[in-house]
Amino acid sequence: MTGKTAVLVYDTIHGRVLTRLEEKFELILVRRGVPPSISPEDAERVKGAAIFGAFGADWIDLLPNLEIIAHFGVGYDGVDCAAAARRGIIVTNTPDVLNDEVADSAVALLLNTIHQIPRVERWLRSGDWAEKGSCPLSPMSMKGRTVGLYGLGRIGIEIARRLEPFKVKIAYHTRSKREGVDYAHYPTLLALAEAVDTLICIVPGTPETHKAINAEVLKALGPNGVFINVGRGTSVDEDALIEALNAKTLAAAGLDVFYDEPKVPQGLLDAENAVLWPHIASATVPTRDAMGDLVVDNIIRWFAEGKTLTPVPETPAPV
Ligand code: NDP
Repeated sequence: MTGKTAVLVYDTIHGRVLTRLEEKFELILVRRGVPPSISPEDAERVKGAAIFGAFGADWIDLLPNLEIIAHFGVGYDGVDCAAAARRGIIVTNTPDVLNDEVADSAVALLLNTIHQIPRVERWLRSGDWAEKGSCPLSPMSMKGRTVGLYGLGRIGIEIARRLEPFKVKIAYHTRSKREGVDYAHYPTLLALAEAVDTLICIVPGTPETHKAINAEVLKALGPNGVFINVGRGTSVDEDALIEALNAKTLAAAGLDVFYDEPKVPQGLLDAENAVLWPHIASATVPTRDAMGDLVVDNIIRWFAEGKTLTPVPETPAPV
């Protein structure tokens, strides 16, 4: 025991979080992804938590003196905010500092998917270029596409702005029309899917968005349709997606996120017309450092001033 405030930390969290936190706090490192395991003495001392991904009521209920959960990541669907709110525990996330990185990744994933970049690179590396000649052409092009954004928040708007120079038409679906943009707004996801041939998912994982991208939505994109997911895998009916990719009722998909990460269904691994990334849309050192700094700054501010920088709306906190 050090006399410092004790903060529970997932042991595999980004290194900068550990380095900065240990300057001011006692760190209690725990393993992520296993049933909660902590000694009663440590549990009693924990006042803050720096975590990423899942942090459920099983953890929260174990920590009687917990005051703040600082989540590494803007999407905090893994945190049981209702359980936290019942106990008056503040939850914070890391908005804005990753907008550019994730938007860049979304455009990169779209281009990779349309131009079939992984396949053409395999063609070169395998020696096929030298042996068999030019690589077979991609049947898809960005030219003439209408791109629909499912979500036009902090990241969605950055994706849309980046797509403008590609001369594509842009439309979106959100529950409320966004002020100050000229893109066509559709009141339902299905209406958007019917109007576009390219759909980019960048909504949070919530009960409302759960499996919202279903067979009907995918079919509406048409046989030249491309689906990109940089939001959450839980927004997709993966069985329906695999079926659409196999039947070629959808041309291709580019996925950074999956329903039950890190498990990826065999049907997606087998699909030649899918480009698959291991949830890396924000994964560069500068951006992960910025996210880590925000996690730490929220915790420091909370224990110094009783305020946070970026609280989530479900657990209202003084800012
Ligand atoms: P914001 O809260 O700024 O934007 C969310 C957008 O989704 C808003 O336009 C909102 O509009 C819309 N939305 C929310 N619920 C619904 C709904 N039920 N139906 C239709 N639209 C909805 O979030 P960010 O842009 O910062 O982040 C979005 C998500 O992206 C994160 O929550 C996270 O899950 C994911 N993400 C993934 C990353 C990755 O590594 N792949 C990295 C970063 C984020 P309205 O409220 O009007 O409906």
